[in-house]
Amino acid sequence: MADQPATNSLAARLARLGLRSDADFVLHLPLRYEDETRITALADARPGIAAQFEVEVVASEIAYRPRRQLIARVRDADGALSLRFLNFYPSQQKLLQPGVRLRVFGEVHEGYLGPEIIHPRLHAVGAGESLPDCLTPVYPTTAGLGQATLRRLIDKALARADLADTLAPELRERLRLPEFAAAIRFLHTPPPEMTQAELEAREHPAWRRVQFDELLAQQLSLRRAYTARRARGAPSLVPTAKLTRALLKALPFRLTGAQAKAWREIATDLGQPHPMQRLLQGDVGSGKTVVAALAMLHAVEAGYQAALMAPTEILAEQHYRKLAAWLEPLGIEIAWLTGSLKKREKDAAIARVGAGETPIAIGTHALIEDKVEFARLGLAIVDEQHRFGVRQRLALKEKGTFAHQLAMSATPIPRTLAMSYYADLDVSVLDELPPGRSPVTTKLVSESRRDQILARVHEACRGGRQAYWVCPLIEENGVSAEANVSAANVKRSGRSQNVVLQLKTAEATYARLAAELPDLKVGLVHGRLKTADKAAVMAAFVANQIQVLVATTVIEVGVDVPNASLMVIEHAERFGLAQLHQLRGRVGRGAAQSACILLYAQPLGQQARARLKVIFETTDGFAIAREDLRLRGPGEFIGARQSGLPLLRYADLEDAALVEQARAVAEDMLHAAPERAEAHLQRWLGGREELLKA
Ligand code: ADP
Ligand code: MG
Repeated sequence: MADQPATNSLAARLARLGLRSDADFVLHLPLRYEDETRITALADARPGIAAQFEVEVVASEIAYRPRRQLIARVRDADGALSLRFLNFYPSQQKLLQPGVRLRVFGEVHEGYLGPEIIHPRLHAVGAGESLPDCLTPVYPTTAGLGQATLRRLIDKALARADLADTLAPELRERLRLPEFAAAIRFLHTPPPEMTQAELEAREHPAWRRVQFDELLAQQLSLRRAYTARRARGAPSLVPTAKLTRALLKALPFRLTGAQAKAWREIATDLGQPHPMQRLLQGDVGSGKTVVAALAMLHAVEAGYQAALMAPTEILAEQHYRKLAAWLEPLGIEIAWLTGSLKKREKDAAIARVGAGETPIAIGTHALIEDKVEFARLGLAIVDEQHRFGVRQRLALKEKGTFAHQLAMSATPIPRTLAMSYYADLDVSVLDELPPGRSPVTTKLVSESRRDQILARVHEACRGGRQAYWVCPLIEENGVSAEANVSAANVKRSGRSQNVVLQLKTAEATYARLAAELPDLKVGLVHGRLKTADKAAVMAAFVANQIQVLVATTVIEVGVDVPNASLMVIEHAERFGLAQLHQLRGRVGRGAAQSACILLYAQPLGQQARARLKVIFETTDGFAIAREDLRLRGPGEFIGARQSGLPLLRYADLEDAALVEQARAVAEDMLHAAPERAEAHLQRWLGGREELLKA
């Protein structure tokens, strides 16, 4: 194959399907099958069911009705039908000569001139040509790559490739899985007595074997990456407990049981001589920040620095404010680093971090710029880690050659997904909300009743409460544009147009609400405000100088204003489930009864209806995440494109039992049979593991 395939070459088309090595071809399995092992009489053809017929051409012509098309009349012993080609090659026209015997495959429909097949697959029958003895596979393909070509290449690869089993016979027996070579051959060329339905349901042991192998490859690669990172050294952070104890004493609350447990797990990790790789996950409002603060203090009292990176300025700012209030009384200085700082301030902050004068740094992506260097970074925390790409996440950790790493996420990950996609992380879960929260009532309200909602906002604010009013996302090709409106993202092409539109909508909504609620102070916050302006608006809202905050989705994550008890989301049908849950989590943080009002516009699409139903019926973040996973599929759910992890093609993550088995086998195999593990990874992932190794 050429080194640099032209975009249209065969190699390029194959590459688009991920087909490079023999193993890739071998593992490129059929989507479905067609039965060409038998001949159906035309008289027995049933509409809508694909079948093979053996016929003789009676006549053919090019007709114009109204488009140019090729039509042939064919017949067998006791039936007749038409074959119709709207596009055709001269070779097809040449083939369809009266008297020629053909094998024709396709679905019969009742057409204009009686029964017909449009664009049948056909070939002239050679003398004494027998029928194939297996079902014909139909492979996933791409434009310009025909089934015949793919079949030929796959057959060749099957003949050439090493199909040696990577599972020991005892293991196969215990798991009741067939041999690899047998399973693969079966799936590419199944015997005719298999029904298509049986095969396509993917429950045949041959499919189980492939699914298991795929999950095993995933588990092996994740575990291996985990082990490799663990093998590196990191400073064992020995705490004096002075600072952490002082913070715990100063807090106006006690840690929840879940917080205390997560904190213990983290403290234990930090004391180890190898880097922590932990994910702290907890629903919106479960109190991750204080756990992060304790971890940072632990690093500081052990003589190291700690950094906290957040995906948006607003969120970074919130962290900064909150942590400053907690830590500055303890005499801890915090450096603040974002992209929008004046050069002079930024340089000064960078200098102090570099000299080790500030023990803690908080900021956005600015923290991972090249010129930022830490004197002795011991702990890197990334908040809302799913918002960052893998590379960005790693970049922060690499600011300290041997730093411990803590990722935080408010998107609870269902168990099976965590087991597979996050098998390279240890996980702590905050599965308990702090006491004193009042449940949030969710209401679905048609946009036509906006006036009533306005009255409700008015009343709540007159009663001393505050409200958020979130502006709609702008739809992108009918799909919601993702709500990434942070300054760093605005520049990226494609989305920027929508960001501008969303901004205009926000400004219009702001003007309208300000006019409609003249006795209240209405504020506006969006991603394009200058940092200082954004901070001023947020500060005014925190101080209740602003009662109604009109916002784009910049407030989606992390914002914490307990007095706000009402959340109105316009065009809620355009938001994703996780986003709605995050937004709703901005209220219900104080003692007051809170409500989230989802305004929607008719007509609702099926997906939107399903999402609104889930958010209306459920407040448990884990349950919502499970539904989200079901509605969107794992790829979208974990943002696989940005995570860089290979997606599963054959296995189903809902298949918890199989995931669990693969995990156990992977652990074992890495120790007991490393060469088998290596062969297995090579077969399934080839060279596609780089991102995990980082
Ligand atoms: P999240 O997990 O969404 O980041 P935060 O850390 O912002 O949640 O915490 C939400 C709110 O709960 C904050 O106001 C925080 O101070 C408060 N909080 C955290 N832990 C507790 C606790 N154990 N008891 C009472 N309030 C708490
Ligand atoms: Mg948070």
